[in-house]
Amino acid sequence: MSSQSSCIFCTIVKGIFKLLETETMLAFMDIGPIARGHCLVIPKYHAAKLSDLPDHQMGDILPALAKIASASGNENYNILQNNGRPAHQEVDHVHFHYIPKPADAGDKAGLVVGWPIQGLSQEEIRTSYDELKRKL
Ligand code: 5GP
Ligand code: ZN
Repeated sequence: MSSQSSCIFCTIVKGIFKLLETETMLAFMDIGPIARGHCLVIPKYHAAKLSDLPDHQMGDILPALAKIASASGNENYNILQNNGRPAHQEVDHVHFHYIPKPADAGDKAGLVVGWPIQGLSQEEIRTSYDELKRKL
């Protein structure tokens, strides 16, 4: 396991409210939930952003999220993974939020999403596509 002594999620590996654990993954309750049942799934390997995480450290994460979603029985929920301060990442260790969305919560509980559609033309979308496709 890679770790950083200053990283809260590296030290929390010893922590409380553990839900699931494998060799490479840990799931636990979020300390500042925005809905009842809000929890986090992390790789044990310390990487700040998803793009820093080696592929072989990712394998247990999606199955754990699906297992939690299934076990908790919530009909509505979001999986959220933030990268970088402008994108609302506060803890610099890759983590996936499982956030239940109560059906009648509106903006009072669960994830509240802004969705600023840019109104790009097909040509502008094609430019983004060409740039990205070239690099993949
Ligand atoms: P981010 O904004 O980086 O995507 O989310 C960080 C999350 O980590 C927040 O939901 C916050 O409540 C949670 N968090 C921060 N520190 C701790 C901690 O020490 N323990 C737990 N369980 N969760 C934490
Ligand atoms: Zn860490």
